[in-house]
Amino acid sequence: MTTRRNFIKTTAALGLIPLLPVSMLSQGAEQVTVDDPAAKALRYAEDAAQAVRSDKMGVAAADQLCSNCQFYTVSSSDAALGPCMLFQNRLVVGAGWCAGWVPKQ
Ligand code: SF4
Repeated sequence: MTTRRNFIKTTAALGLIPLLPVSMLSQGAEQVTVDDPAAKALRYAEDAAQAVRSDKMGVAAADQLCSNCQFYTVSSSDAALGPCMLFQNRLVVGAGWCAGWVPKQ
């Protein structure tokens, strides 16, 4: 029996699938969490606005996001999640940031 709660959970989960690159779906990549040791070391934040940033390489702190970082490998700049090379291609939030940020070439 499908309850309203299960229906909402299922449709919410299905709604996220198109945001993930096909390669990530097949590999089952996990998402980096802020309490991950590597994430802590790099001061990763899922919301860049919550991170303490400074201007870097000629880019204003407020303009630095995972989605415009060299290590973010999703081609669409508005992807909600994408693989980060610095985190062994685990998924990070496009609107996030970490101290490893480098402008996309
Ligand atoms: S290296 Fe770039 S894409 Fe990866 S978490 Fe840091 S800012 Fe985001």
